[in-house]
Amino acid sequence: MKIKKGDTVEVLSGNYKGVRGTVNSVDPDSGRVVVSGVNIVKKHQRRTGDVRTQFGIIEREAPIRVSKVALVCPRCDKPSRVGFEVAEDGAKTRVCRRCNEAIE
Ligand SMILES: [Zn+2]
Repeated sequence: MKIKKGDTVEVLSGNYKGVRGTVNSVDPDSGRVVVSGVNIVKKHQRRTGDVRTQFGIIEREAPIRVSKVALVCPRCDKPSRVGFEVAEDGAKTRVCRRCNEAIE
């Protein structure tokens, strides 16, 4: 996965096009990410009897396809294509294809 938890990403298409947010979680199996403030859905939570469980209508972020977001490069501050550079010891570093800067 080119996107990691904690990254800043920009949405490329759909209702949230152009919106930026922080990646809260990544699911490599389904190829989806949850981005803060993006793809908010209302969920009806039934009362469970457990007083700690919130009930009623809860707003939460639903996962979106990772192909609909692009990593925002910290240096050029633009959604960028990401490549990988592999060091001699095998360590992979993400690299911005726009400015060739390594992205942590
Ligand atoms: Zn860049």
